[in-house]
Amino acid sequence: MTYDIAVLKGDGIGPEVMDEALKVLNALGTPSLAFAEYPCGAGCYLEQGDPLPEATVEGCGRADAVLLGAMGLPHVRWSDGTEMRPQVDLRIKLDLYAGVRPIYLYAAAHTPLKGLEAGDIDFVILRENVEGLFASMNGGIQLRGEVAVDSMVITRSGTERVVRYAFELARQRGRTPMKVTCVDKANVFRSMAFFRSVYDEVAAEYPDVERDYAYIDALSMYLVQQPAGYDVLVAENMYGDIISDLAAGLVGGLGLAPSGDIGEEAAVFQPSHGTAPDIAGQGKANPVAMILSAALMLRWLGQRHGDLEAASGADRIEEAVSAVIGEQGAGTPDLGGGLNCRELGERIVQAL
Ligand code: ATP
Repeated sequence: MTYDIAVLKGDGIGPEVMDEALKVLNALGTPSLAFAEYPCGAGCYLEQGDPLPEATVEGCGRADAVLLGAMGLPHVRWSDGTEMRPQVDLRIKLDLYAGVRPIYLYAAAHTPLKGLEAGDIDFVILRENVEGLFASMNGGIQLRGEVAVDSMVITRSGTERVVRYAFELARQRGRTPMKVTCVDKANVFRSMAFFRSVYDEVAAEYPDVERDYAYIDALSMYLVQQPAGYDVLVAENMYGDIISDLAAGLVGGLGLAPSGDIGEEAAVFQPSHGTAPDIAGQGKANPVAMILSAALMLRWLGQRHGDLEAASGADRIEEAVSAVIGEQGAGTPDLGGGLNCRELGERIVQAL
């Protein structure tokens, strides 16, 4: 079987990191992948007047999976001053409700924390991807230039499905103990108390998985003080967005943080980072987050199609990354290394 993969390179460092991920996927040999590239992003808006053309959305909907680099540029904005975020629009159009963000420490040297070894940090953030505070995107209220309101939107069905995904993921990971942490601010906001009550209802279906609760502010401290204590964390959209960056900082930064945006019918795999305009075009971008996102894609394809070759492709990529940035200590400048984006990509291809 050949999988059709839609490729959205996007803006800034998106094309640079994508090129390395495609090299790695091609070097695997199996599974067979056919890539089709589609225009998108702020550059596409400047050329075609639309950052996410309908043909691109349709191509993504038809594909078996989507690989996305990064989109948006600070100087390309809508008339209300907000930046274009076609990657967020795509999540909503394809209903990619589960933002899966694995956080793994590949080398002790990557963390600013003391006394940790490779593998000591190993958890997954489940970010609800299509509602929460982001439901107000492009729809918040601004009155007379003196009042602005964005609302937190929490639905029962939206919360149920992402919490269920979190519990299923905890079972798949099979840690001892299996645990899902509900991240909220249930002591203050009605929306968050509701989120927690739905979490409790779903948790009752998983008596083998430990329940855990943390307020978002306290969690920000616990993640720094005791990151080894977490397995799967589930949070509404904005909280998930913020703790994803915090957690990436614990294991070496955004250049090492992959993600999958997953729905019932489609999935988009992209690094957690943005377009990094400050380093774009200079060869300084770390391609590992994009390469690990490609591995997540293979693991998802493997599960969805019962395809052992695809699943083993994911393992092989992760092992090659581990060998290069872990054991060999090689890296781009963000990891304190002297390699450029292409050189690091090539090292990973060689390790494969
Ligand atoms: P967005 O809001 O679109 O997620 P952002 O404002 O969080 O984007 P990023 O583009 O992710 O910003 O960049 C944040 C910082 O991290 C920048 O200093 C950038 O250079 C750095 N960075 C991001 N990705 C990488 C990468 N792959 N390699 C090296 N540095 C990176």
